[in-house]
Amino acid sequence: MKYVSTRGQSPKVTASEAILRGLAPDGGLYCPEYIPTVDQDFLDNLCQMDYNQRAAKVLSLFLEDFTEEQLLKEATEAYSTFDEYGVAPVVQLGNDCNIMELWHGPTCAFKDVALQMLPRLLRMSKEKLGVEEETCILVATSGDTGKAALEGFKDAPGVSVTVFYPNQGVSAVQRMQMVTQQGNNVHVAAVEGNFDDAQSGVKKIFGDSEFAKVLADRGQKLSSANSINWGRLAPQIVYYFSAYADLVNSESIKMGDKVNFCVPTGNFGDILAGWYAKAMGLPVNKLICASNSNKVLTDFFATGTYNKNREFFKTGSPSMDILISSNLERMLYHATGSAEKVADLMAQLVNNGQYTLDQATMDELCQVYAAGYADDAICDETIKEVFGKYSYVCDTHTAVAYAVNKEYVANTGDNTPTVVLSTASPFKFVGFVLSSLVGQQDPDVSEFRLLEELSTVSGDRIPAPLRNLETRQVLHDTLCEKDDMKETVNNFLNK
Ligand SMILES: *Cc1c(COP(=O)(O)O)cnc(C)c1O
Repeated sequence: MKYVSTRGQSPKVTASEAILRGLAPDGGLYCPEYIPTVDQDFLDNLCQMDYNQRAAKVLSLFLEDFTEEQLLKEATEAYSTFDEYGVAPVVQLGNDCNIMELWHGPTCAFKDVALQMLPRLLRMSKEKLGVEEETCILVATSGDTGKAALEGFKDAPGVSVTVFYPNQGVSAVQRMQMVTQQGNNVHVAAVEGNFDDAQSGVKKIFGDSEFAKVLADRGQKLSSANSINWGRLAPQIVYYFSAYADLVNSESIKMGDKVNFCVPTGNFGDILAGWYAKAMGLPVNKLICASNSNKVLTDFFATGTYNKNREFFKTGSPSMDILISSNLERMLYHATGSAEKVADLMAQLVNNGQYTLDQATMDELCQVYAAGYADDAICDETIKEVFGKYSYVCDTHTAVAYAVNKEYVANTGDNTPTVVLSTASPFKFVGFVLSSLVGQQDPDVSEFRLLEELSTVSGDRIPAPLRNLETRQVLHDTLCEKDDMKETVNNFLNK
């Protein structure tokens, strides 16, 4: 199976090349040129398997450069970093609502599912293509992605990872997670500035062709780990299948029954993985796209117009504070079947900040997708409500999805069994969650104390990766001015 660019101006490539390149040379995203389909035998088989076997089975349909056996070995090692609950356990709340917990990995958020696997896919791709240069991953982070990338790439052969975080702008927990990072190939620096400063700095470094030459002379090449890489999307398709198999095994559904998935969305990556699963033949009724107050996707599904010209809100679910949902481009490609059209829409987005999709394509999308949003006030109510009803503590992103699903059910009467994707441990967003459960917190109390408080209130243990953070040894104390980021990278990489 080859991969094509959504914008149609780059040659087809193999899975290895797509993973190594990330973005296509024409600026598009790589998509599989056809979508493999599965039958009921395939699903029956998955029911007998553990998560790693399911991962190898599903991934091997897309990544033909590798054998199922190879993929199984890598998945088994990648996911050995998850805690005893596994990669994607499904927890039942009441009769009709199931929560799939995707945050049992080393950083307590769902990005681990993809970022524990991506470095392995990257290494296998380089081996396959005979590429020997050192891949230098460069990340600007507002908190979560940076830590997940550090954990994923630490000690990976032939790779180094450098993370810049804004000195003003990550929480105390997030900062300690990053500055205590171990590994022989990891670099972390704080930037004097906010997230935009860090991100602009990183973009500038990526665009610096002279610097690229300096690196090339040393056998190094910059690369990113962001969610447009096919190697990050593909591992996410797996857990939709896994949840389905688990529901069959627990007799919550019969094989062949349809289910809904409600997904807290920012970049449209996670929910798009669900669309691939459905397109492959997983019995899915609706994919419900849940946003916070940055509801650019809700408005898109309601009106057919994607418009990023709007106020940006900082919310209690910060990983969804996004106005450009990059992975929607892949959906547009599959829905319109026309790279020319996608290129035109994306040009409109750059030039005017908006585009409108034709009615026929919109109608088709709305057969599959429903969409809604929940603001911070609803999120707050929902965390309280879910804890009151089920003694279950959910994080802010999960609460957004839970609330949107509840509203969807009320509006439509659709009683299809539903899986709500839970994307972070509540301990990760402890300030908001604790305020919802027991009232406003004193802003002077340290987050590390709040973790203990939430543990007491909820009866759940603090996840191991967040325990005793404040007493761990700080290994990274570089602070740089925003104009010195290139020099800082160069120093890191020239050792
Ligand atoms: C990244 C993230 C999301 C959004 O995922 P997308 O793939 O961008 O849609 C939701 N919740 C959490 C906790 C995240 O870290």
